[in-house]
Amino acid sequence: MRVFTLKKNLNEAVKTEKKSGKTVGFVPTMGALHDGHLALVKKSLQENPVTVVSIFVNPTQFDNPEDLEKYPRFLERDLHLLEKTDKNLIIYLPLAEDLYEGSVRAKPYDHGGLDRVMEGAFRKGHFDGVATVVHLLFNAVQPDKAYFGEKDFQQLRIIQHMVDKEKLPIEIRPIPIYREKDGLAMSSRNLRLTDEMRQAAPFIYKSLMKAREMAEQGFTPSEIKQKIRELFSRSPLELEYFEIADEKKLKPAGDFKENKHYRGFIAAYAGNIRLIDNMRLK
Ligand code: AMP
Repeated sequence: MRVFTLKKNLNEAVKTEKKSGKTVGFVPTMGALHDGHLALVKKSLQENPVTVVSIFVNPTQFDNPEDLEKYPRFLERDLHLLEKTDKNLIIYLPLAEDLYEGSVRAKPYDHGGLDRVMEGAFRKGHFDGVATVVHLLFNAVQPDKAYFGEKDFQQLRIIQHMVDKEKLPIEIRPIPIYREKDGLAMSSRNLRLTDEMRQAAPFIYKSLMKAREMAEQGFTPSEIKQKIRELFSRSPLELEYFEIADEKKLKPAGDFKENKHYRGFIAAYAGNIRLIDNMRLK
């Protein structure tokens, strides 16, 4: 496994690989790796002779300083897991000033309205931070394909939009959500849950399943939303939002149209840990 911290050195190594005609897959992460992250890495390994994995807790996408400070960091363990997955991986551990070329700040992006709802509405500046760092990482790595989880579905759509708008020659590959046995979506933040909240957290998945069942039975989005809010009011979790939106434009749905796919999106607090999840309803 080769590990790089400077953009210039990484870029040279990747260029050498590309010169021999190899395609490069890229998996950006914030570390504290779990099987969801590794699924992205394995997919890239299947599809490309060269895979780059980055680990970088990007300060510009956090709207909450405590969340940034307490974000789990397990670099040694992450490197061990990656080495076990494939010895030929290229690992990029950016230094913030080198990646950002000086001031570590988010740039404003036009997200085509995709940021108006859900994470964009509740975490101010979050997607500018995400788009800025992913754009910088793409410039550093110059991959052919990049792998993103549907766990962060709105992020995935925003990255696809950024790549189209900036005309970057990169194919964005979505990967389905990996869950624990009890349905809880895998997340680095799950490590911070108390035992009590870890037991309560699969309620998020159960309510998405309930929403899907109701959608199949012909209930309207507003009826489903009302029901889910009611269920949360009787749970130990605190619902921040439950939204139903179409997968393409992420516009909140008034009704379900035949030719479109819709997802339910949840953000909820389990104690003081904020969790997100989503599921296709129709
Ligand atoms: P993160 O380290 O949380 O920034 O995540 C890095 C990448 O892994 C993102 O593309 C996430 O969407 C993806 N990811 C995180 N958790 C999961 C999961 N449970 N299933 C699938 N992909 C995931």
